[in-house]
Amino acid sequence: MTGTIPTPTTFITENCAMPFCKGCGHTHVLRKLNDALMKLQIPPSKVNLVTDIGCIGLADALFETPHTVHTTHGRSTAFATGIELADSVLSDSKLKTVVLIGDGGAMIGLLHLVNAALLNVDVTVLLCNNFLFGMTGGQHSAFSPMEFITPTTPDGNIIPPIDMCRVMLDARAEFVARKLATDKDLGDVLAEAIQHPGFSLVEIVELCTEHATTKNELTGNAIRSVIEEQGQEFGILTNEKNRAEFGVLYADKNPRDQAFSASQKDDGLIPQFESKLKHQVGIVIAGSAGERVQSAAKKLCEAAVMSRLHCTQKNDNPVTQGSGFSLAEVILSPHDIFYTGIETPDAVIVVSEDGLNELYEKHVFDRLKPTTMLLIDSSLPKPHTDANIIEYPFRKEYGGAKAALKAIELYVQQSGLFPVEAFQTS
Ligand code: SF4
Repeated sequence: MTGTIPTPTTFITENCAMPFCKGCGHTHVLRKLNDALMKLQIPPSKVNLVTDIGCIGLADALFETPHTVHTTHGRSTAFATGIELADSVLSDSKLKTVVLIGDGGAMIGLLHLVNAALLNVDVTVLLCNNFLFGMTGGQHSAFSPMEFITPTTPDGNIIPPIDMCRVMLDARAEFVARKLATDKDLGDVLAEAIQHPGFSLVEIVELCTEHATTKNELTGNAIRSVIEEQGQEFGILTNEKNRAEFGVLYADKNPRDQAFSASQKDDGLIPQFESKLKHQVGIVIAGSAGERVQSAAKKLCEAAVMSRLHCTQKNDNPVTQGSGFSLAEVILSPHDIFYTGIETPDAVIVVSEDGLNELYEKHVFDRLKPTTMLLIDSSLPKPHTDANIIEYPFRKEYGGAKAALKAIELYVQQSGLFPVEAFQTS
C-alpha cells in the first residue's frame, strides 16, 4: 500500500490565541513563518523548530505539527546545529531546522551562531531583535541603539549596538537578511532563507510594545530609521551558494555505507548471542582511576549489544583523571532506555577503597534492596546494607588492573543476563 503525505493547511495551530502583548512583533514573525512554511509545503515531520528562552520561546507551543525543541538561554543554535549534524550524518538529511531566538539570547550564544555559520549547517536562524530582554523586564541588550533607555540604561545606552548581520557575513554565512517584522514580503524572505541549502540568518527588527516604547519615542514606523542611523542596512544582504553545506562535504569524505560497515567490523558488535533479560537493570561499578574500571564497563556494554540488548554507560571520575575514584553506571535493557540515571541499582561492584568511599559519598548503599547483588573485593570493609553481598579477592587474584574486569565477568555469570562468552568475546 502506498501512502501520500497530506498537504498541510497550516503549521501554526488554527485560531490559536497569541500569548504576546498587544502589538508585539513576535506575532507578525510567527504568522510570517507560517506563511513561509505553507509556501514551501515541507511535510511537518520534516520541520523542526528550536526555540530559545524569552518571549519568542513561547512559539513552540503554538506549532502543533512540526517537531519543536525548547532550549536553554542562548543555546538554541547549538542544539539546532547538533540536530542538523545528526540528521545530515546519520539520517536522510531532509530536516529543515529553524531557530527562533531573541537579541538577548543571540548575544549570549554568539559563538554558537558563528560556529553554525562557519560549519554551514542547514539551519535557519530567525533573530527577533526588539533591542532588549523583554521577558525579564526590558533590560538593555547588545542590540540596544545608542541612547536607548531601559531599566539598566536609565540615562540612555552609551555602548554601540552589535551589527549581527555583519558578524554573520564575516563568519562566511551565505544567506543573511535584515527585515522589519511588519514587512509585507517577510514571509517570502523567510521561505527563501529556509530553502537556502546551508546556514541562513534573518534578523527581524521588531517592537517590544511593553518595554521599548514607554521611555523611548519609538514606534513601528520609527524603528527602520533607528537601524539605518546606526549604519545597518535592510534587505537581503547576501544570497550565495558558493560553499557546500556541511552534510554534503561530510558525506563526500565519509560515504555512509562504507563508514557503517567499517565501524561494525572494527567494533565487532554484531549480535550473535541471546539474552534472557526481560526488564531493565542498572549496574554501578566503582574502583580506582587507572585500573580500567570504565573500559571494563564498556566491555560489558559491548557484550550486551552483541546479546541484542540496549545499553547506556555514564562515567564519573575526579577532575584529576589519573587519581582517585573511577565510576561507571551501566543500564542494560531489552527495550529502549529513556532515562540514563540509576536510582536503585540492581547490582553494585566495588573493587577498591577509592570506589568504596565514593559510593559512601553518594549514599549508594542506603538505596540498595535485598535483591541487589553487591560484589565486593574481600580486602574492603563491608558496608551496612540490605543487599545480597558476595565477596571475592579480585585484587589479590588478578591485580588492580583486572579486578573490575573479573568482577564484572563474575556478575555476568551470577546474574545470567547473557552468556558469559559474550563478555569474553567483546
Ligand atoms: S514583553 Fe515585549 S517581547 Fe515580550 S510579549 Fe510583551 S511586547 Fe512582546
